[in-house]
Amino acid sequence: MKYLSIRVIAQSPLSIRSDHASSGAGTTSYIPGSTVLGSLATTYKLLNPGDAHNFERLFLSGAVRFPNLYLASYKKNQKLPDINKNLPIYPTPKTAIACKRQKGFLYPSDQNNESHGVRDTLIDHTLFTEWPEKDKVTALTILEASQTCAFEHNHQRCGEPTNRYEAYYRRINDKQLLASEGKYHLQTHTGINRFSGTIEEGILYNRQVFDEGTQFWGLIKVTDETVSTLLEDFLERIAKGGLMRLGTGRTRGMGKVFLITENQSRETDTFAAFQQRLDTFNSMLQQEARKYQTQLSQIEDQYYFALTLHSPTILTDALFRYHGTINARILEDLLYKQAKTPIHGIQHVYHQAQVQRITGWQELWGTPRTNEYAIETGSVFLFKCPHAQRTKLLPALYQLEEQGIGKRTIEGFGRICISDAFHQEVTWL
Ligand SMILES: [Zn+2]
Repeated sequence: MKYLSIRVIAQSPLSIRSDHASSGAGTTSYIPGSTVLGSLATTYKLLNPGDAHNFERLFLSGAVRFPNLYLASYKKNQKLPDINKNLPIYPTPKTAIACKRQKGFLYPSDQNNESHGVRDTLIDHTLFTEWPEKDKVTALTILEASQTCAFEHNHQRCGEPTNRYEAYYRRINDKQLLASEGKYHLQTHTGINRFSGTIEEGILYNRQVFDEGTQFWGLIKVTDETVSTLLEDFLERIAKGGLMRLGTGRTRGMGKVFLITENQSRETDTFAAFQQRLDTFNSMLQQEARKYQTQLSQIEDQYYFALTLHSPTILTDALFRYHGTINARILEDLLYKQAKTPIHGIQHVYHQAQVQRITGWQELWGTPRTNEYAIETGSVFLFKCPHAQRTKLLPALYQLEEQGIGKRTIEGFGRICISDAFHQEVTWL
């Protein structure tokens, strides 16, 4: 697998269809992979008319997996060091919480940042779920720790209730997380009657428009070395020529973007690092559980891991019915089909997930798409299996993370992260 990071900088206002997004910053501030794929395919056709062979290799064969591009801009701040613009952008999981009044990361710490911090609650929820039913009441103290804001100012605890925190962020340093912020507004348009050329009654739609200068980031995955060379040459050519247009309103001068791609070596994503991340999460959870030895001693011989969605994921069963969740059977099935590894004894422990409707336009063909249902970005599923399965399980999970799961992975759907490092953030940061 080869990785190319792709950075997009808006040179004119950038308008993205927002009708497919359900709610919140977490689901709207991105450029869908299908839009990226569509725009690149259109540009390729213009530059290389008649070259069906390479077009097929780049856009139809499945060798190139285009990503969703996530917001990668920040508020202007003198205190910020030079940030490596190729650091990955991640979505926060649905288990992330922040103060209801002053939400956001503590970093950068200066007087302009009034945020009270963010933390993850997956380990808390897991311990609560695993607690024996008969005295669940005592376990409530575990959950209470994250229900109010713990920020202290002049020895006074904030104490406001907490809410789920949705954002895109970069990990600048071990404990320094920086949330992306972009300026955008909603533009409302009226529909036009095709016969009379006048306003069509009852048709009103929204477009989300990002200001000039807004940046986005994503990671292209290429499974084939020769296709990768072909893609790199093509991307370099359009980058130099400033030929790329993204989103809607292109005839009105919108969507002119500057594109920068770079080969991404991924030392942090080798199998050894993967294994370490999973083991660290499991041992953190075990260590927390040891505080409650009498109630939670039974979890010691289990291996815990989380499956967190980094992009919307479309899963269907054999009869093409959509899955709204990922249970143990679905996961075992994926491991068997994609990694050829039969793993038994996986149990679902806890999840926080939501489903969204995906509508939209098939930009490759210029036709409307049928609606589909996806499990939202940031959804978290926690599983356990007997510790004895660990050696067999880890390589299989690694493959799943590399390949992605479900339908339309070439358009950025189905990016997953196993035991996302964010779940280790149990202290406010
Ligand atoms: Zn607070």
